[in-house]
Amino acid sequence: MSADGDKEFGSCCTELKETMSGVDFEPLITVGDGGILYMSVGLIEMDDEEPGMIDHPLFFCPFCGTRLQTVEEVRAKSGGDDEDAT
Ligand SMILES: [Zn+2]
Repeated sequence: MSADGDKEFGSCCTELKETMSGVDFEPLITVGDGGILYMSVGLIEMDDEEPGMIDHPLFFCPFCGTRLQTVEEVRAKSGGDDEDAT
C-alpha cells in the first residue's frame, strides 16, 4: 500500500505483474531505488567479479504498451542529476 502517490507497476496487465513477482524465476524487470522501474538489458563482465546487470529505465510496458513512467518522473526520482547543479 503506497499512499504517497506512487503508481503501482504491474497494474496494467497480468503479464507484467507476474513477471515482476517472479516466483519461479529471477525477474529482469524490477523496481529499483526511488521507485523507478528498471529492465535489465544485458550482462557486463567484470574482472574477478560476478557478471553485472545493465539496467535501463522502462518507460512502456513490454507486454501491453501502457506508459509506466515518463522521462521526467525517472529523472526526478533518480535525483535529477542531469540538471542538478548543486
Ligand atoms: Zn502491461
